Amino acid sequence: MINQLNPAPIIAQNVMDEIDKLKPLTGGEWDIKNNDDITQFKGSLKSQLLITQDDKCAYCGLPFGETGKTEIEHFAPKGGAIRPKHPEFAFTVKNLVLSCNLCNSPVKKGNYDTIEVKNADYNLCTFKIVHPYFDIHSLHYAWTNDREKILIQGISPEGLESIRVFKLDSTRHSEARTRIKVNAYILTIPGGADLIADALNYIP
Ligand SMILES: [Zn+2]
Repeated sequence: MINQLNPAPIIAQNVMDEIDKLKPLTGGEWDIKNNDDITQFKGSLKSQLLITQDDKCAYCGLPFGETGKTEIEHFAPKGGAIRPKHPEFAFTVKNLVLSCNLCNSPVKKGNYDTIEVKNADYNLCTFKIVHPYFDIHSLHYAWTNDREKILIQGISPEGLESIRVFKLDSTRHSEARTRIKVNAYILTIPGGADLIADALNYIP
């Protein structure tokens, strides 16, 4: 399932001080090569997020093993050196999450601009989709099932928009969620691991 991220990663002050020297950010700074501070920032962020996110995508909530490799993703897109979008938030920790290849792909989020109303202070921006750090997810999503699959419903404009952008109601997502939950449940039953092994060897 999709969970609100808490706490946000903490980056060492000496690294942040060096990153601050890159300001004002105008685009392309994230991709500067051979800069030890940027490498440290990314490494520290990623290792903390893997723990906070429990190896799951911040957008679809599926394990990375299910959905493809892990990328640091800018929630509000930074754009590039040539076409910057929100470059000033390129190193804003609460703008950075790990997402799967599927959610970050051009057919889903891609360069979608998540900011509804921009403010120089990132914390005061408003967003079009559910924010991984700021939003209480249960106010935006509801979960039901049709006895076969776990289904997601949007119960706010941001929840509905997240479901549309990330296709969170696709059959693939529903089936993956169901499989993970059913397996977790079976493992709570004595002999559950053997039951799963038997099931995998079962030839219908
Ligand atoms: Zn995802």
